Amino acid sequence: MPGSVFSLEVNPKIPAKLARLSELANDLWYSWDRPTRELFFRLDPALWDAVGHNPKVFLRRVEEARLVEASQDRVFLESYYRILSAYDTYLLEPVRQHDQPTLGHDDLVAYFCAEFGFHESFPIYSGGLGILAGDHCKAASDLGIPFVAVGLLYRQGYFSQTIDGEGNQLASYTDSDFADLPVLPVLQDDGNEVKVEIELPGRVVMAKLWVARVGHIRLYLLDTDLPENSEEDRGITHRLYGGDINTRIKQEMVLGIGGVRALRAAGLHPTVWHINEGHAAFQILERARELVAQGLDFHAALEATAAATVFTTHTPVPAGHDIFPHELMLEYFRDFIPQLKLDTGAFLALGHKPAEGSGFNQTALAVRGSRYQNGVSRIHGGVSSRMMVDLWPQVPPDENPMTYVTNGVHIPTFLAQEWMDLFDSYLGGEWRNKLSDAAFWHRIDQIPDHLYWSVRQALKSQMINHVRERLAHQHRRNGGSEAHLDRLLRYLDPLDPSILMVGFARRFATYKRATLLFEDPERLRRIISHAERPVVFIFAGKAHPADRPGQDLIRNIHAIAHQPEFEGKVHMVEGYDMGLARALVYGVDVWLNNPEYPLEASGTSGEKAGINGTINLSVLDGWWGEGYDGHNGWAIKPLKTVDPFRARQEEANSLYELLEEQVIPLYYQAGKYGYSTEWVKKSKHSMKTLLPRFNAARMVGEYVNKFYRPAARQGVRVTAEDFQGAHALAQWKERVQVAWPGVGITRLDQAPARLQFGQQLRIELAVQLNGLQAEDVRVECLFRHHGDLRNREQPRSYLFRSEGEAEAGGAHRFVLNLEPETCGRIDYKIRIYPYHELLAHPHETGLMLWL
Ligand SMILES: *Cc1c(COP(=O)(O)O)cnc(C)c1O
Repeated sequence: MPGSVFSLEVNPKIPAKLARLSELANDLWYSWDRPTRELFFRLDPALWDAVGHNPKVFLRRVEEARLVEASQDRVFLESYYRILSAYDTYLLEPVRQHDQPTLGHDDLVAYFCAEFGFHESFPIYSGGLGILAGDHCKAASDLGIPFVAVGLLYRQGYFSQTIDGEGNQLASYTDSDFADLPVLPVLQDDGNEVKVEIELPGRVVMAKLWVARVGHIRLYLLDTDLPENSEEDRGITHRLYGGDINTRIKQEMVLGIGGVRALRAAGLHPTVWHINEGHAAFQILERARELVAQGLDFHAALEATAAATVFTTHTPVPAGHDIFPHELMLEYFRDFIPQLKLDTGAFLALGHKPAEGSGFNQTALAVRGSRYQNGVSRIHGGVSSRMMVDLWPQVPPDENPMTYVTNGVHIPTFLAQEWMDLFDSYLGGEWRNKLSDAAFWHRIDQIPDHLYWSVRQALKSQMINHVRERLAHQHRRNGGSEAHLDRLLRYLDPLDPSILMVGFARRFATYKRATLLFEDPERLRRIISHAERPVVFIFAGKAHPADRPGQDLIRNIHAIAHQPEFEGKVHMVEGYDMGLARALVYGVDVWLNNPEYPLEASGTSGEKAGINGTINLSVLDGWWGEGYDGHNGWAIKPLKTVDPFRARQEEANSLYELLEEQVIPLYYQAGKYGYSTEWVKKSKHSMKTLLPRFNAARMVGEYVNKFYRPAARQGVRVTAEDFQGAHALAQWKERVQVAWPGVGITRLDQAPARLQFGQQLRIELAVQLNGLQAEDVRVECLFRHHGDLRNREQPRSYLFRSEGEAEAGGAHRFVLNLEPETCGRIDYKIRIYPYHELLAHPHETGLMLWL
């Protein structure tokens, strides 16, 4: 039919009684408060799904009559008022937990990240990093931390994924209408929109500021899609992780430089700055520039900036670290460099990573511009300190400043409502204040097994329904027949969720080895086709559109899922997002993760599974390396070899063995009640050991105690009295750097081979200080019992005392008298390193010399 179609949206008038629904739709509180989302759902379930669980769009499209009806329905109103009361109370009173992390009254943490994942209705995230950032904000809000977050408002966000009949991933991008998102423009007092300027080569780009409410905290988002910008510059905030390296550098300039200006424009004064992954590292340059403009020299400005800065690195995979070619940096920072009063060489040196050759490395900049650095699990902290050993070249990796805070997940977001209700009945509402209290969670054992199991089964049925719908939609769209669909779905019966189901869903990056399970297809076929003990595997996940090998993995799994012997037992579900993630981690029995060791920095989906009683079967990498206690799941022990092919084979074998000998027998060990009580026992043990440790409240509390509070204090220490400390520290570091190559130690006494118990060991050293003073260094003896060397025991440390200059202009004499407290063989070492009382970490200079 010819002719034009005009579109029109008719918006309801919201009845006065329900007016505060819009308030609920405009606070990301809804992203973790299930009852709030239920409220919208109840108004019109079909519309709620049709609008992608987006409350703002929902309120614009819902039928007027439905709203009027609800506004006169006592049952609905009761829920509505209960939710408003919970919301108001939440805003008035942050939770009080026993070990409440606190900051000073005037403190404010500014948290920068390139992506934020709050909810599927707000598509400015791609995967784990974004969801972690969202969880960090949510927990900061819960705990009442003075906190503000900064990111970019992407027009298209990350792509939506469909998978065609051949298993090809198709990426589609949809423009968001910002009116649909839970954001509002930031306005000045005069009502005009707040915009900030970022200088790019030959032009100035404008970025508009938006704000999202997240309970107690605010997320500021920058957007360059404005008529005053050129077509090219409007596209800077077009797509998350889209575009080439030019787009990438511009995005990071808008985030880092524009982000600082945005906070200034909003009248905020952060005292702690958190760079969450290197994408946001340019904030360091902008903050240093501000101080240089106030009259500081660059080095003092960098000290002042770094003192209050925390940097978290999130991946050991090299491609995850941004490196910009020098020419590109010089092009984009041409006018910025003079404002730092630096020459080009010194500017480029800020991003120099000696072990990786040329290029401006954002991780290196972030390390140089921060004094608190961490990885995201114990294993990853170790890997990161080794990867970055070249930034503190003389310091052994286990002593450099890189440490770790293990990731955790936001419990209200990722714990199923059914569990919350059960906890309310059996543990009392106070469980919400006890999230990190490990002893409290032993009470999980008080929940009767059959009730515990019935919640697991209910969640599994919901998951099965969700997956069936998605698979059916996918199959029909790809032109598949109904008979074929019936075959595909025959083991996914929501009325009989008794089949063992294993889930695997995450980004399809190759190091995550999504196809490890298919290493020996014949063996797998035997495992899953056992008549009495069938197993179903459900896969989901997106590969980055530029990642061909990642997309091949999707194709492989799709192909296997369509082979007759695997049909119905292996599924590849399209469109992985937070909604599907929740359904899967709640509902499958086992959560599988088999990355290539040690490349999984933390991983969080297994934590989400664990808190819901889904049992982990994973490689001992990332968070699981410290979460696994021998009983709360199953561990694939990584083969620590340089041969990835062998590792793959061995670890696949181990995976099959665990499935054959442990997982499947335990699950199908039906007792007289028709389910496996041993399974329930393991699941309970898993839930009670993991929930109190791998939650975001514990994580944010650790950030506050380990980093935010010290960084706030350090910031004051070096900036007080007109930046005296920053000047002193910068000058001292320069002096030390110059003198260090001429520093040397010699031992003056004869090292005795034996000592009687009770006798003193007197060590005398001649130390060439090359112009430094005795107070500028620490001379240290590290002492340990033989045999302790290999275990993790920290050596004891004793400091030498200076006895002044041995002879005029010559070496200093340092002496240590010490009386060993035990007998046996003792090993000791002697070293010297620079020391200043204003250092945030004793080894931040990276200098150290051993005798
Ligand atoms: C939790 C989550 C992730 C992170 O999963 P990992 O297994 O840690 O990589 C990625 N995507 C979504 C949608 C998630 O909910």
